[in-house]
Amino acid sequence: MSISNNLEKYREILNKYKARLIAVSKTKPNADLLQAYEAGQRDFGENKVQELAAKAEALPKDIRWHMIGHLQRNKVKYLAPFVHLIHSVDSQRLLNEINKQAVKNERVIDCLLQVFIAAEETKFGFSEEELFGLLNSPEFEALKNIRIVGLMGMATNTDNQNQIRGEFALLKNLEQKIKSEILSSNVAMQELSMGMTSDYEVALEEGSTMVRIGSAIFGARNYANH
Ligand SMILES: *Cc1c(COP(=O)(O)O)cnc(C)c1O
Repeated sequence: MSISNNLEKYREILNKYKARLIAVSKTKPNADLLQAYEAGQRDFGENKVQELAAKAEALPKDIRWHMIGHLQRNKVKYLAPFVHLIHSVDSQRLLNEINKQAVKNERVIDCLLQVFIAAEETKFGFSEEELFGLLNSPEFEALKNIRIVGLMGMATNTDNQNQIRGEFALLKNLEQKIKSEILSSNVAMQELSMGMTSDYEVALEEGSTMVRIGSAIFGARNYANH
């Protein structure tokens, strides 16, 4: 199957759910991204700052770049001028830095708060308690150059569909709770970034608005640490 055939398959499914496809292109060469671009894809996700910035430099300027991987504070400045959405905000200190760099660039940067929903220990993200601690703090309300547009979560890597479904449902519930309880002017909940190649169908059924799909579009990745 070609990249454009793969994209076509997802487009049909996603149209049905009115969800957006983020093509996860980490480790893939620019030529592969261009193939997807020529097939109409505009949203691309990367998990490493340097790789994302180099691709953004080389590829068409109307691509919307999504940062989906763990982000270190000292690297925010490289993305701040152009990034479309940061999915992986996992601490207040990171959010403060994103706000600071957004001020420098005279823009508002859209962010998702990454929530820890899996039963695994290695994933990043806020707990529910930390999430509401952040959203209710006066320091948070003062951040005028970031906008929280939703939540991101990664389910446990398991074959147990019920467990995966339960974890995505938890994220959806948190979204509803934030919508009803948090009135801060820098919060506008509208996106749920959940689902990847192995679990996107369950994610869509549970209310995902953005699926992040890599290997099913571009093929298996080359190195083990991605
Ligand atoms: C790599 C990655 C994906 C895509 O994974 P696939 O299994 O290739 O679809 C999605 N989300 C994040 C955060 C990733 O790092």
